Amino acid sequence: MSGRTIPADVTSERASSLCKQGKTRVTIALELGISRRTVSRLLDPEGTKRRKEWRRINVIHTTLNGKNGWHRVKKRPLPDSCELCNKISSPKLQWHHWDDNHPELGIWVCSSCHYFTEGLEAGLTMVHVEKYLKLKSDINQVSERVPNR
Ligand SMILES: [Zn+2]
Repeated sequence: MSGRTIPADVTSERASSLCKQGKTRVTIALELGISRRTVSRLLDPEGTKRRKEWRRINVIHTTLNGKNGWHRVKKRPLPDSCELCNKISSPKLQWHHWDDNHPELGIWVCSSCHYFTEGLEAGLTMVHVEKYLKLKSDINQVSERVPNR
């Protein structure tokens, strides 16, 4: 069967009923012709969302001690808004850390501020910001002189 399509007759109620009969998720998956993961989703529809939220607060995906992957990290409490620009985008806030030996040291930022902080870590300074604003202004002025735009 193809990817994410669940047959119309495969419902949460049917999966729950099979589960109450004592069948395992593997058996239910085989019986309904769906993946074990889909069975889990049917039995616990909020689970995916809950696990995703837990991951956001408790783990990071980065390279630690030479190992790239998910690592358990005790982050600071999730605020309601970006700690830099105060934009309220809590569900989208990302954890920015600056020391792979101490990934628990970090701040919660929106994606724009995350790019900004990564830029600063990579050596971006106010000189670059001023140069960017000057280039942008120069290019805009030149472009205003060119007809047929
Ligand atoms: Zn921000």
